[in-house]
Amino acid sequence: MEKKLEELIEKLSELPSLTKKTSTKMIIDFLKKENKNKDLEIINELLMELKFCKKCNKITSNDNSVCNSCQKNNSETLILIKNHLDFINLEKHVEQNNFNSYILNIDSKASLIKFLSFDENYKKLSFFLENTTKIKEIIFSFSITSENDLLSSFIQENFKDKYNFYVLGKGLPLGNSINYIDQDTLKFAFLKKEKI
Ligand SMILES: [Zn+2]
Repeated sequence: MEKKLEELIEKLSELPSLTKKTSTKMIIDFLKKENKNKDLEIINELLMELKFCKKCNKITSNDNSVCNSCQKNNSETLILIKNHLDFINLEKHVEQNNFNSYILNIDSKASLIKFLSFDENYKKLSFFLENTTKIKEIIFSFSITSENDLLSSFIQENFKDKYNFYVLGKGLPLGNSINYIDQDTLKFAFLKKEKI
C-alpha cells in the first residue's frame, strides 16, 4: 500500500468511531472531491471553533466555553445522559414539550468502577451540581443495562440528601441507546418517570 495512504489511515483510525475500513472509504471520497483544499480549510476552522461546554459537556462554539443552554437555564431539573448523541434526541424532546431542564453528559465510558475512584466524570457531575444550586431533581436517562443501574445507584447514594432521583419510565427497550428512541416513546417515558 502507498505509504502515505497507510499513514493517513492510521491517523484517522486513531478516532475510536472510525475503523480502518471507514477511514479508507473517507479518504477515497475526499480524494474525489473537487475543492479539497477549500474544504479542508473549512473543516479545520470549524473544528478549531468547537469545544465541549465546561459545565454540561455539550459541544459549543461560544468563546467562554459555556453553551447557550447553561448560560440561560434556571431549571430545577437535571437530565443525566451518557452519550453525546443523546443530546440531539433529548434537546428535541425538551424543546417540543417546553420542558425546562439541564442536560449533562457524563462520558459514555463512565462506569461504577471509575466513579468509585472519583474520576473525571464524577468530578464533572460534582462540579455541575456545586455550581447549579437550583437543581432539585435528577433524572437518569441512561440505556437500561445492569452496569448503568449500578452507576445510577451509586450517584443516588452519594448525593441522596440534596435531590430527588428518577429513572425514565415504561416503554424504553432494554439496552437501547436513548438516541434511537422515538419522540413519542421518549415523551411517555418522561411522563411515567419513576421516583427511586
Ligand atoms: Zn452547557
